[in-house]
Amino acid sequence: MSGNPAVIMNVVASAWAAAEKAGSIVRKVLDSGELGIVRKTGDNDLQTLADRLGQQSIFASLSRRFPKITIIGEEDLPDEEVREDLIENGQAEDILQKTCPVEYSAVKEEELVVWVDPLDGTKEYTEGILDNVTVLIGIAYKGKAIAGVINQPFYNYQLGAEANLGRTLWGMLGLGAFGFQLQEVPGERRIVTTTRSHSNKLVTDCVNAMEPHEVTRMGGAGNKILQLIEGKASAYVFASPGCRKWDTCGPEALLRAMGGELTDVHGNAYSYDANAKHMNSAGVLATLRNHQYYTSRVPQSVLQALKSDSVSLSSHTTLPQSS
Ligand code: AMP
Ligand code: MG
Ligand code: MG
Repeated sequence: MSGNPAVIMNVVASAWAAAEKAGSIVRKVLDSGELGIVRKTGDNDLQTLADRLGQQSIFASLSRRFPKITIIGEEDLPDEEVREDLIENGQAEDILQKTCPVEYSAVKEEELVVWVDPLDGTKEYTEGILDNVTVLIGIAYKGKAIAGVINQPFYNYQLGAEANLGRTLWGMLGLGAFGFQLQEVPGERRIVTTTRSHSNKLVTDCVNAMEPHEVTRMGGAGNKILQLIEGKASAYVFASPGCRKWDTCGPEALLRAMGGELTDVHGNAYSYDANAKHMNSAGVLATLRNHQYYTSRVPQSVLQALKSDSVSLSSHTTLPQSS
């Protein structure tokens, strides 16, 4: 194994391997037929054995190698010994080979916060809509999502070819994004992707205000980012609380690594520091380009209903009084 002197490159290389491992756990649990479904806050907020084992696996794998990192995950689990067969010790060799962007080369382990969604799209997982499912690991530094890994455990599952099942994408600011072929929606066509199972009036009002040529409704925050980078959608619009920091940290980093943006509906960035509120209360707006068009179309009623956590310079600047 080659050494890479930058801590962050080691963390990303380990996160890549941990996401692959979690993806294989997600497939195994489905194969076993025993999903172990638990309802958390209701019928649209589920946890399965795959969510539990996946989180245990990622937490144990990363904290064993990087004990000083803060790791925050979706699932509330008892603090118990993790089975050795769930732990991944590997690292992605091609990530270790990359030169770390200079602004991150001296970042220390204890300065990083890792946000983990061991299974994004749990509802779709339980309903057999398998390509909506992803494993998300986001890495934040100084509150910013700087690197992200997305594993899609059932990529290609319709082909029935075991050999090509699943893939892992990753991205880092200053380096770019890897593990897929970038495609964009042709021309000025607006294809808006949004939730299929957590919709409400604010969500549909906001989607309609974008004047979309087409709307797709799909599960998973990670999956909707994949739609953006594979030319299947031009904007991910979710004007509602519901998504949490573990849903957006990894996807946001991947998108930003390609020049895209993920913000709340006001156009303000979320903070991913260790004390950040888990809920993305002011919704999610994500694009690869033309972000400003989408933020400019958000209706006043939506802006008023979803207050931003962060301070927007444009709306909070106080002009000096003229005398
Ligand atoms: P969706 O687009 O509905 O699949 O949601 C994307 C992510 O946000 C998933 O992890 C969902 O579990 C989560 N999410 C969105 N809305 C809600 C909600 N109302 N309650 C619980 N989780 C939600
Ligand atoms: Mg999720
Ligand atoms: Mg989840």
